[in-house]
Amino acid sequence: MKFSEIIGQQATIDRLIESAKEGRVSHTQLFFGPPGNGKLALALAYAQYLNCHNPSETDSCGHCPACIKTAKLIHPDLHFFYPTTTTKKIKKDPESQLFSDEWRTFVLDGNGYVALNKWYEHLGVENKQGTIFARDATEMIKRLNLKAYEGKYKIVLIWMVEKMHVSAANKLLKLLEEPPQQTLFILISEQSEQLLATIRSRAFQLKIPRIDDQSIASALAQKYNLRLADANPYALMAHGNWIEACRLVENGDEDKEHFYTTQRWMRLCFKNNIPELIDFCAEIATIGREKQKTFLAFSLQLFHNSLLTNNGLQTWVRLTGEEAGFTGKFAPYVHHRNLLELTQLMEEGIRQIERNASPQILFMDISLKVSKLLSLKP
Ligand SMILES: [Zn+2]
Repeated sequence: MKFSEIIGQQATIDRLIESAKEGRVSHTQLFFGPPGNGKLALALAYAQYLNCHNPSETDSCGHCPACIKTAKLIHPDLHFFYPTTTTKKIKKDPESQLFSDEWRTFVLDGNGYVALNKWYEHLGVENKQGTIFARDATEMIKRLNLKAYEGKYKIVLIWMVEKMHVSAANKLLKLLEEPPQQTLFILISEQSEQLLATIRSRAFQLKIPRIDDQSIASALAQKYNLRLADANPYALMAHGNWIEACRLVENGDEDKEHFYTTQRWMRLCFKNNIPELIDFCAEIATIGREKQKTFLAFSLQLFHNSLLTNNGLQTWVRLTGEEAGFTGKFAPYVHHRNLLELTQLMEEGIRQIERNASPQILFMDISLKVSKLLSLKP
């Protein structure tokens, strides 16, 4: 893809182009920042720019053979590695190269704007967590030992590098520090605090911020043929996350479902209704890990919205009808004595699910704590 297809992020684009023109391309770069901000899309546009036969001052040409191959993700000097796991198709020893067709479809469908949970959904493994394995590292080393095939740069793009197994990282350390000539590693990370320090310390770090609201709004208006005024609220709610912005426009129903579940859960916690909470947690245990995380994130949002409501900032809470009604009634029970702990509970819950905690036990534990916190007087 071209830089012109990137939503917002002009400062980062300028910086990337500048360093390329000055011949200061760091051989190992870490692109990190929040979900949905276009880190992968930027990396793809950057890769295309670096290997373009005829780049302009501000972008790749988009029609030379290198650009065309890069855009289709089939350039022989562009190598992708990403988390994988066993699936129906690959029953043992998963690694990136076994999923290259799935990866291409996935990335091209999202035009470079992709999320980890969607990747797992795409592979049909919503209940598992992927890893970048030592096998992947072996493959990288093998490919980099071949001479650059036809590009100026041989580019290894590692998506969600925080999912790299320590054994894979150990194999790569030397290579990351001193890659062969004209080789570039682009590491992409969403939860850089989980990144191994040995990897982080070897990379030039480029923080990619969230996308500004204005760019999201105008991109939404264009994609969905909306008036800018109608796109603005979605942009505001999406907090700089393009994937979330699209989801909000496309998928009002699922939000409704999460709202009803959250409402039911909070009512049970509020009443400290243990028998029904036990049933509720058993039910939640069956919905799949990615949905469980979304649900905790939704609860987290309810606490944030309560805080805004309590502080007279309702205009920031874009809710209507039942949701606005419930948040209004719920808000007074969220206050300075419990807000931090409630928030941390949900965030920690999301992390625990990623670490394969038993959802039933986890949700019960969170429920009991939430019950206690909601009973505190402001
Ligand atoms: Zn080109």
